[in-house]
Amino acid sequence: MLNFDVVIPIYNEEANLPELHRRLREVCEVQGDCNWRVLYVNDGSDDDSWSIMHTQCEQDSRFSVIDLSRNFGHQPAIAAGLAHSEGDAVIIMDGDLQDPPELIPDLVACWQGGAQVVRAERRSRQEKGLRRVGFDLFHRFFGWVSDFPLPGHTGIFGLLDRQAVMELNRFPEKNRFFPGLRGWVGFKQGVVYYDRKDRRAGEPKQSFRRLVRYALDGIFSFSYKPLRLMTGAGVLISTAGFLLAFFFVIRRLVGIEIAQTGFTTLVTLVLFLGGVQLIAIGLLGEYLLRIYDEVKKRPLYIVRSQYGLGRTGNKIKGIPDVSANQDSSDSPGSME
Ligand code: UDP
Ligand code: MG
Repeated sequence: MLNFDVVIPIYNEEANLPELHRRLREVCEVQGDCNWRVLYVNDGSDDDSWSIMHTQCEQDSRFSVIDLSRNFGHQPAIAAGLAHSEGDAVIIMDGDLQDPPELIPDLVACWQGGAQVVRAERRSRQEKGLRRVGFDLFHRFFGWVSDFPLPGHTGIFGLLDRQAVMELNRFPEKNRFFPGLRGWVGFKQGVVYYDRKDRRAGEPKQSFRRLVRYALDGIFSFSYKPLRLMTGAGVLISTAGFLLAFFFVIRRLVGIEIAQTGFTTLVTLVLFLGGVQLIAIGLLGEYLLRIYDEVKKRPLYIVRSQYGLGRTGNKIKGIPDVSANQDSSDSPGSME
């Protein structure tokens, strides 16, 4: 019999949890022949999320929760969920209902069709304003800057089979960009399309600052281009400087004297070159601080407690039993 885990990072989602619970149950209700388990990761919520999740787990043994010792962030919370997952396939989704649970059967069908890594790609999205512009700009820029080709318009929503999860669990990376790592692991990749809604309730928990940091993690861990561009800029500016010097020497030799003005030019050049140098140092710093994070080898997250990690036989709606065709002989334990 197949086992599925649905990993959901939760940070202050008290307004969304009851609806999420209802819709997950509806989708995963008895039909077909497979076990499923929802694995919430409570990422240091300071509202009522923890007690709501706890109650849900008490009432329904298919729900379980890992409680992190503080707010570690979206990516570490996902890593915690993956490390504690045991399913033959693991579905990863956000807890604000932007990722519709109703897509889970399609993801599973794609997996059963042979894909080991399934990503849910947005056909459209409802977010508006600065965030929307930011997301679009990022995907465009990332497509250009990344050394490793990755499809745009995907987030964390998707499915990984056990082999891919085990490989991802081996990654010691601290500044994680999950959509990139999911592409990087390879295997047979599949895609399912969906329309992304706006978050159902509450404010986004990924603040703008955090999103910018996440975007930078994506860029700096998947591209050397910023460094190469700086080298290119250096070569260009020093060539221009050399040519200019050559021009001044020739001018002096042929005896052409020009009235000595040029204060504005000098100030502009000094500021421009100073700026370019500072940007180059800043870019180096971005790589350096990520190296520093890796060298410190701090754990990615700390688990305070966990609740209801037992499993019972429950079935996902709309998913036929194909366990006879799947090799589910290995049943790995916790990967932490
Ligand atoms: N989240 C989390 N830790 C955080 C921030 C967010 O676990 O520090 C969770 C949040 O509860 C939600 C998911 O990650 O389930 C995505 O967060 P959000 O909707 O704020 O991100 P966005 O959709 O804007 O990328
Ligand atoms: Mg969201």
